[in-house]
Amino acid sequence: MKPSRLIALFPLLILVLLAGCSHCGRRTDTLYQASTIDALLVGIYDGTTTFAELKRHGNFGIGTFDSLDGEMIAIDGTFYQAKADGTVFPVDDSAKTPFAVVKFFSPGTKLPLSGSRDLNSLMMELDTMLPTHNYFYAIRIEGTFPAIKVRSVPAQQKPYPGLAEAASKQSVFQFSTITGTIVGFRTPNFARGVNLPGYHFHFISADRKVGGHLLDCRIDDADLYLDRALELHIALPENAEFAQGNLGQDHGQDLEKAERGPSRD
Ligand SMILES: [Zn+2]
Repeated sequence: MKPSRLIALFPLLILVLLAGCSHCGRRTDTLYQASTIDALLVGIYDGTTTFAELKRHGNFGIGTFDSLDGEMIAIDGTFYQAKADGTVFPVDDSAKTPFAVVKFFSPGTKLPLSGSRDLNSLMMELDTMLPTHNYFYAIRIEGTFPAIKVRSVPAQQKPYPGLAEAASKQSVFQFSTITGTIVGFRTPNFARGVNLPGYHFHFISADRKVGGHLLDCRIDDADLYLDRALELHIALPENAEFAQGNLGQDHGQDLEKAERGPSRD
């Protein structure tokens, strides 16, 4: 082939390469979830999904680690582990999670928040602002927060206790006037058992040095971004614990205790 024809084909070659890139075909509207909240509630904490795999499905999300060793925050493609000793580390791709939810975040709707509110008021405010409660939403809140209260849970030993008991050993950390991001999701009530119904938020500071599962906060002026998801992909653990697990029971009270209850005061 003559060099001049090669040059003429060059733009076409670039187009073909772009069309074949791994990100071009990704479904940005899909939530990807490893395991279920019911499995976590009954103590199925063995990590089965690698973070390399999670990263293929999202750049934003929350979750936990093998043996429930801390709280996971994914933001802008970097995944962090907030441990019960208060330290925060980037996560190795080879680490595994027993439960996580991720999405490629696209900040479709921006809602400026003004005035002051705690976490309960924020959740009630959001419920009145959302056009429907029947879709999944990824939620990102950027700001300098007057108060942030987070927790992290230490790694558990086998035989694993249920999540409510494990969470009773949580470490709680409180910060004032801290800049960072609240990362979370709203799950419709009909998905109870699959994920925590309603809101589930984690926090990470702008310097990526502190973070955890959000128990309470004070939010003044902040920017809230909403990203609706119409699709959900669940990867179920392929192991005996999940296969034999007593799932699908009514875990309502345990769920409240584990994720919202003991430290909201
Ligand atoms: Zn959490």
